[in-house]
Amino acid sequence: MTRLKLAVVAVLMSALWSVGATAKFNIFACEPEWGALAKEITGNKAKIYVATGPNQDAHYIRAKPSLIAKIRIADLVFCTGASLEVGWLPLLLQRGASAEVQPGQPGYLMAADFVNTLEKPLVLDRSLGDIHPEGNPHIHLDPRNIVKLAKILKERLSILDSKNASFYKMRSRSFTKNWELLLTQWSKRLPRLKGRGIAVHHRNWSYLLAWSGLIEMAMLEEKPGIAPSAMHLKRVNNKVSIKNTMAILRTTFDDSAPSKWLMEKSGVPAIVLPFSVPRTPKEGNLAALFNSILTKLENIAVRH
Ligand SMILES: [Zn+2]
Repeated sequence: MTRLKLAVVAVLMSALWSVGATAKFNIFACEPEWGALAKEITGNKAKIYVATGPNQDAHYIRAKPSLIAKIRIADLVFCTGASLEVGWLPLLLQRGASAEVQPGQPGYLMAADFVNTLEKPLVLDRSLGDIHPEGNPHIHLDPRNIVKLAKILKERLSILDSKNASFYKMRSRSFTKNWELLLTQWSKRLPRLKGRGIAVHHRNWSYLLAWSGLIEMAMLEEKPGIAPSAMHLKRVNNKVSIKNTMAILRTTFDDSAPSKWLMEKSGVPAIVLPFSVPRTPKEGNLAALFNSILTKLENIAVRH
């Protein structure tokens, strides 16, 4: 190689280096709640792509080329884990995500790994439905888990994007302080819900119930992930009444027919609760989600 060519290569390499150094940190969040938490901690320092919206069931997502393109540029993959995304995330990771975001690496962050999961099965038997060996993955609706994840996320970001570590630390501290205040405010609203019965379509709400003291009286799906059968719904109808059950809960993506049928038979109101935040993450989205869930439940609690 001539001296000139060497000089050109050196210039090109330094140009590439500076592009790399100024490029924003890319976060691929599987669900909108993790996108919103990432937004709280990273502010304007990261580019966040959220793979699914609040009206989508994250159990069933197709590993589309557009998602592959997004995960390829990810510096951090932030998802629920506990097998929630087992049908699509491993495929996306195999199709060209960097070595730094593969399982076991700091760039691979699964929220459920850092909290105590509920409903861990004693036996793993596929005939029991869509059972997650790691326990129920829908951990984000216990707001105490959000603050745990804020800390874990801050620690990961400090490793992966160390030049902004002090910024993330500051953001995480103020988010946590504010969230602790909210937790205190919310906990004052819980006595009105504590001990009240709830029927659920799918066990999307177990962590919300555990936090709030609401009690699951019945599940419309006989087995998780399997559509409710007429026979099972009749059994559920024998168990629930307006006396022992305040509401039948479902998400926007659950089939509405079973809860509507049960409402007609039992008189227990069927309600749709928001399951997550909007797909485009904004600061304050997570707090608004819990406020809106609590308000909806309180409105039902005073009426029934
Ligand atoms: Zn589930």
